[in-house]
Amino acid sequence: MKSKSVIVIGAGIGGLTAATHLAKRGLHVTVVEKNSRPGGRCDRFSRDGHHFDTGPTLFVMPLLYEAEFHALGTSMCEQLELQRVDPTYHLVFDDGSQLALTSDMQSMQKQLEAFQPGSFQGMLRYLQEGGRHYQLVLDKLVNRDFHHAFDFFSIQNLALLFRLKPLINHYGNMSTYFDDPRLKSAFTFQDIYMGLSPFEAPATFSMMPYTELAHGVWYPKGGMYRVVESLIDLARTAGVEFIFNTPVERIDTDSTHARGVLIADGLRLDADAVLANADLPYVYQNLLPQDRTAQTLKKKRFSCSVISFFWGVDKTYEALRPHTLFLADDYRENFERIDRDLSLPTNPSLYIHAPARLDSSMAPSGQDTLTAIVPVGHMSGGTDQNWGELRSEARRQVFRRLRSLGITDIESHIKFEETYTPPSWRKRYNLMKGSTHGLSHRLTQMAYFRPSNRHPRYRNLYFVGASTHPGTGIPTAMVSGRLVSKRIVDELGV
Ligand SMILES: Cc1cc2nc3c(=O)[nH]c(=O)nc-3n(C[C@H](O)[C@H](O)[C@H](O)COP(=O)(O)OP(=O)(O)OC[C@H]3O[C@@H](n4cnc5c(N)ncnc54)[C@H](O)[C@@H]3O)c2cc1C
Repeated sequence: MKSKSVIVIGAGIGGLTAATHLAKRGLHVTVVEKNSRPGGRCDRFSRDGHHFDTGPTLFVMPLLYEAEFHALGTSMCEQLELQRVDPTYHLVFDDGSQLALTSDMQSMQKQLEAFQPGSFQGMLRYLQEGGRHYQLVLDKLVNRDFHHAFDFFSIQNLALLFRLKPLINHYGNMSTYFDDPRLKSAFTFQDIYMGLSPFEAPATFSMMPYTELAHGVWYPKGGMYRVVESLIDLARTAGVEFIFNTPVERIDTDSTHARGVLIADGLRLDADAVLANADLPYVYQNLLPQDRTAQTLKKKRFSCSVISFFWGVDKTYEALRPHTLFLADDYRENFERIDRDLSLPTNPSLYIHAPARLDSSMAPSGQDTLTAIVPVGHMSGGTDQNWGELRSEARRQVFRRLRSLGITDIESHIKFEETYTPPSWRKRYNLMKGSTHGLSHRLTQMAYFRPSNRHPRYRNLYFVGASTHPGTGIPTAMVSGRLVSKRIVDELGV
């Protein structure tokens, strides 16, 4: 009997993972990708011996990666050569004080007590809460699907979810543990990974600082793109076929089903099911007939964006550690400028990644490969944002911040520069509004409230990736791939 077929639109992390699971179950799977290589947002580029991970730089939640590689029939350690990054981050505050977040509790005690006497005990209590949240979130929200309202709204589930402090905002909750505003920001800035402000994020997200300190932040030798290389090998071995450099132009539908996809020159590829890994709001807006859901999605909250600078530098700056973060005193104003004004803060918090500190092969000997990431509002759709000006201002701010670490000559040592602004993110990966993490993870857009991984009308059209369940992040996209592939296999009756 002929095996059933699935077309996957996009070779991002979620698409690659789902494609592999489906092919392993005997389905005929073809991935159609608009770009010339797989990975989507988890991308890279190389120039003159400098290698850049242009999207993710942090390998966090290793237990989730391990579980997902195991589900694919392999193991994380078989696939990746990992080293722990400890201290995880070097934080630099406006007053010049610094904090190295580390799992070495003696060092943490010494550092924290110098910031605020008694704060070490506060941190231990905070991490305890984070540990509880981590376990509950994974068991009750991440590792499962919500096909029906009663999957989510059961009395038992709601009682447990209440323990996640969903209605208390993360920053507000920090007063229970710390008085010093620098410490409040040191243990909440991670919310930006969800594209969220700590002033809006639920206190649930204390799980992120917990997992970073308890389970570690890691680095795969060769960079984050090694995850993509490993996933594409697994997919090819399972029999998945790939078509690159081919944007899907439409999903071909009848009144209740998807019949396949249309690519250039009106060519149609038929399939028993279509799985869209391209970001969900873009798919509703651009690949399907307009309907009510597409209109509703337009009004949802989107995560922020970033301006990223990639610099090949002809000397090494040892003052920069693998992950250096400059955190601004006007922390609240930072998030307001990004979320409310869709702009750049006047004194932005920002992040610098120096991978050669971990892996000398990422830069030529005696030189540096540096990425600076400055969070900024997503595209407004109007004419109020001048990305050229915002880019220049962000660049000035990075140099200003570097001077506080004694780095004053970097401009004259930059050999080449690449910059991504929100329009670049939109163009490269079809991310609506150039929003780097897709739909935001505010309370009303999480779990059951996040768009489902199956279209409500077209019964064989499915979604995988950051803007569907469970949400953004590489290991989470792998979970999304596993969950949706199970649903497809069940519903196609394979
Ligand atoms: C700057 C940045 C930093 C990040 N940092 C981290 C981090 O440190 N750690 C972490 O875990 N996560 C991080 N993330 C998040 C993580 O990268 C994403 O959540 C994850 O990679 C999303 O995967 P996805 O499955 O949604 O697919 P996507 O990456 O969205 O891929 C979708 C694919 O579909 C393709 N596509 C789109 N439209 C079409 C079309 N019409 N036809 C064919 N193909 C199409 C795109 O080209 C793309 O390849 C970061 C993201 C960004 C942007």
